[in-house]
Amino acid sequence: MHMEQPAEGFETIAIHAGQEPDPVTGAVVTPIHQSSTFAQDGVGGLRSGYEYSRSANPTRTALETCLAALERGTVGLAFSSGMAAADALLRTVCRPGDHVIIPADAYGGTYRLIARVLADWGVDHTSIDLTDLDAVRVAIRPGTTRLVWCETPTNPMLSIADIVALSSLAHDAGALLTVDNTFASPYLQQPLTLGADAVVHSTTKYLGGHSDVVGGALVVGDPDLGARLRFLQNAAGAVAGPFDSWLVLRGVKTLPVRMDRHCDNARRIAAELATHPAVGAVRYPGSTGHAGHDIAAKQMRDFGGMVSFTLRAGPQAAVAACGRTRLFTLAESLGGVESLIEHPASMTHASVEGSPLAVPADLVRLSVGIESVDDLVADLHQALRGLSDGSA
Ligand SMILES: *Cc1c(COP(=O)(O)O)cnc(C)c1O
Repeated sequence: MHMEQPAEGFETIAIHAGQEPDPVTGAVVTPIHQSSTFAQDGVGGLRSGYEYSRSANPTRTALETCLAALERGTVGLAFSSGMAAADALLRTVCRPGDHVIIPADAYGGTYRLIARVLADWGVDHTSIDLTDLDAVRVAIRPGTTRLVWCETPTNPMLSIADIVALSSLAHDAGALLTVDNTFASPYLQQPLTLGADAVVHSTTKYLGGHSDVVGGALVVGDPDLGARLRFLQNAAGAVAGPFDSWLVLRGVKTLPVRMDRHCDNARRIAAELATHPAVGAVRYPGSTGHAGHDIAAKQMRDFGGMVSFTLRAGPQAAVAACGRTRLFTLAESLGGVESLIEHPASMTHASVEGSPLAVPADLVRLSVGIESVDDLVADLHQALRGLSDGSA
């Protein structure tokens, strides 16, 4: 089992990176090291470097090593939530007086953290449509913009930003590019290989994949940046616990096969919705009519498991559809094996209502799971029945 050569294939890395059989017992699965502290052999005599689980824990190390390998980075860090990961990155990179560019349709929690928390600590921001590179060029303040924050595909509009183009714009101005890679997962998109400096994840979503854990991660290529992040991770302490790390690690092993099915099911559902009389616009980067389709095809392996669509009959029909599905569960979050449906304007994005990040009220978002796709299609058809004429 012990591999001298680094494994190359994504599926192999997902199952083996950081996950050698336990040296003491031979346990094939990385144990849950549910221990806060570690015995020392004489003062300072640490075994394998472990002393206290905020600083490092072997189960977390296994996850961090695996995530770094999957994203083709050098340093991975696991946090107690995606927002904790975002916070650690922002506070490591930004100082009072600095400026950050964020997407006009950023994840609501990212917007809230930057606009309502970090703003009070002197970090300024501009939210802008990242698909408009000229606008980004104008908004970047050389020497002051520290970070360009990119999300692609975005939530819930599924817009696509060009990672290669944004990285050169950011670097020309002396800024770093970070990509929230939650929607794509490293199986579909590897931002560090496209010029990004840091990758952020909510491991709550596809990486965990089973809707049973909240977690976050950062991966970077530059070891110095990695060391600074590691310092803040330990200093502020929002670390992933051993059991949560283990759950994500278990999820990651099946990420490639799950993603393939998520993508196939989403492709079929997007096609069904596109011809449905009740449906207005379908937002899915795999559609050739999607504005970001060509860029998505260039930088992603496939188009992901998220599909958003509007109802011709308007916001009330959108709310009604969300209440009528039987297999699609009405719930926030995404990226688990089970299909979810939600109404962003009144659920996940209620906090950005009235802000520049507000989403259309007639929009419905699907996280397409890995159930039998015929059952999913039938469920949507019955939920949309009679909603085309606004009489719902
Ligand atoms: C869920 C999510 C987050 C936040 O992650 P948490 O684990 O909920 O803190 C950040 N970005 C995106 C794109 C998300 O979907």
